[in-house]
Parts: sequence; C-alpha cells; structure tokens
Amino acid sequence: MIVILHPDSALDTIEGKAVMEYLSARSGITPHSHSITGTGRTLTEIYVVGNVAGLDQAEIESLPGVEKVVRVSREYRVIGRHTGDVRASGFTYNGVRFDPQSLHVFAGLCAVDNPANVETMMQALQDHGQVCTRMGAYKPRTNPYSFQGHGLECLPYVFELAGKYGIRVIAMEVTHEKHLEEIENCLEACGRPTGVMLQVGTRNIQNFELLKNLGRQNTYPVLLKRGFGISLTESLNAAEYLASEGNTRVIFCLRGMKTSFNTPHRNMVDFGHVPVIKRMTRMPVCIDPSHSVGTLEHSSDGIPDVFHATAQGVIAGANMVLVDFHPRPAEALVDGPQALTMEELPIYLEDVELTRETYLKRIQRFQAAS
Ligand code: PEP
Ligand code: MN
Repeated sequence: MIVILHPDSALDTIEGKAVMEYLSARSGITPHSHSITGTGRTLTEIYVVGNVAGLDQAEIESLPGVEKVVRVSREYRVIGRHTGDVRASGFTYNGVRFDPQSLHVFAGLCAVDNPANVETMMQALQDHGQVCTRMGAYKPRTNPYSFQGHGLECLPYVFELAGKYGIRVIAMEVTHEKHLEEIENCLEACGRPTGVMLQVGTRNIQNFELLKNLGRQNTYPVLLKRGFGISLTESLNAAEYLASEGNTRVIFCLRGMKTSFNTPHRNMVDFGHVPVIKRMTRMPVCIDPSHSVGTLEHSSDGIPDVFHATAQGVIAGANMVLVDFHPRPAEALVDGPQALTMEELPIYLEDVELTRETYLKRIQRFQAAS
C-alpha cells in the first residue's frame, strides 16, 4: 500500500506526523517514507509493507494529511504502475528532465581512451546542441586480458571537459560501490562541473549488493540495463531493488537479448518492449541500439541498421538513446566498429528528431480517436 500525502503535508507537519503515528500504531506494519520532487512540487509517499490486508483504506484516506491511498500488487511496488496511481513519474537531474514524455540522446565513448578524443567528441556534441553523453571509465569485460577502462585516472579530465562543453549528464557504468565513491570524490574536487548517471550494465543487473548500495544514495540517478539472458520480470525486479532502497530515479534500458538467433546482429533487438515497460512501470525507458545491433552495416536502402533500430525504439516512445560515438573509431579501445562517426552524428540526430516527430503525431492521432 502507498499512502500519498497532500503536497502541503510533509512529514514534519502536524498532519504528516499524525499519518505516520496512525500507521506506526498498527501491528505487523512497517511504514517507509520517500520524498519525490517532481515538476514544481515535492510529494511525500509512505510505503506500507507487512500485513496491509487489515488496514482500512477509507479510514486512512480520511486523515487530513492524506491525498490518496494506492493499493499495489506485490510486484514492483515502487516502480510499478498500479490502478488509481497518481504518483509522479520521472525526475530532474542537474537541470535535465527525465520522464516518460522526454527524449535525450546520450552519444559518446564506449570507453574513454585519451583526453584529445574526449575533447573532440564533447565539442562535437556541444556543436549539435547536446547536453548528455556516455563515457565508460570502468569496463566490465568478458576477457580478463581485454582493456578494463582507465578508471579513476581519467575522471578529472572527463568531468572538466564535460563542464567546458556544457555537458550536464554523463552516463557512466560502475561495477563496484567503490566506483561511486571515486566519482563522488572527483566531482566534488573539480567543483561539480557536470553530473553523472550511474549505469549498471547487463552483467551486473543481479548484483544485488551493488543495487542496494546504489539504491541507498539519492545523489545520482541510475541507468539500469536489462539482463541479456534473464526474464523481463527478473530485470524489473532488479529495478525495484534500487527503488525499494530509496532511489526512485531509475531509467530502464533495453539493450538487446543474447539468443542463438541474433546473428548477424550482436544481440536480438528488443525495442518492441518499449511500450511494455512504459505500461508496466513508471520508469523512463532507454534504448541502446549500439550494443544490440553491434555494427554500422546498412541495408539496401542505405540506412545503417543502428539507425533503423533507433527509429524502432523512438517511434515507440523511448525516452533516452544510449549510443556509441567516436571521433576516431580506429583509435577506440572498445567497440570502435559500432561507433557512430563524426560525419554520421548529425545525420543520426536528425533521424532521431524525424522519428520523434512521427511518434508525437501518432500519439495525437490515437488521442483524438479515443
Ligand atoms: C556499455 O554500455 O558499455 C555496456 C557494456 O553495455 P551492456 O552492459 O549493455 O553490455
Ligand atoms: Mn561497448
């Protein structure tokens, strides 16, 4: 059960305290409060777990501080979309709004290699009006002898260059809680010139201790990538781990599934699931066409598969696109062959815009018809 307080009844008000006292007095019940800052207002939600069957919904709703009570199914209590749910979706981070209506492209390096390439790509992103990017500093690799990322060593120049070129959010994978500490210390030392969205990769989606740790902090939002070989339910439960610990600023990323049928693509593109995630949960949805398609090959129409896959996700309502982009792909230390080039970047961004316009027109048509 979720008890939503009136916007003017925060927990420190008389009405807010009375609601908490009422719930705490019931046996077998544990109330946990969360404050959610949406557009223009902060909402306090109290998640009630335990023996909720015996609670009187009407009585709770009649308490002066309560706006609404939502009975939720056991699954995806926090991230899920439940009947009668009026909870706000999305969040603003470092001045950038992420919600089920927004769209942002995060084009950038799969793995940071050197300051010159970071600067060239940041400059190109700024020239094309972009405020977000992706940057791999900690790389989880299948082969232990492969390049593992420059780690802490590259953070100062990555953050300073991001600030210099107006990049506000960097999606950066972390594989251990110590990486969070390194990012936090480095951003603080540089005067927070940019922001970081912590990325949990497909290989770590069931690293529950990592999820709990990232869920217990609220400074950084989390981009959670779908597990490539587990069920959707299992992947969404991983998102619920983050949210149940207190961090509801989670974006769910589709990145393709490992099957024996995906060849010649790197993974089986799963962007048909964009509307499914948006129906089942309140999380914004990201697509990663680079790691699902894995090639810049194009079709007989001249359009690269990675553009086609992006269009499939954006036309279905994706809210974020994570895409590899490298100014000199031959110098890339990881995934150079799938990275968009300098020449392709503007064409790609225009294609995303064109597809997005079509998606918005499609919504209008369906809304007018209903
Ligand atoms: C990545 O985005 O760099 C990455 C390794 O992705 P995934 O976890 O989806 O394989
Ligand atoms: Mn990669």
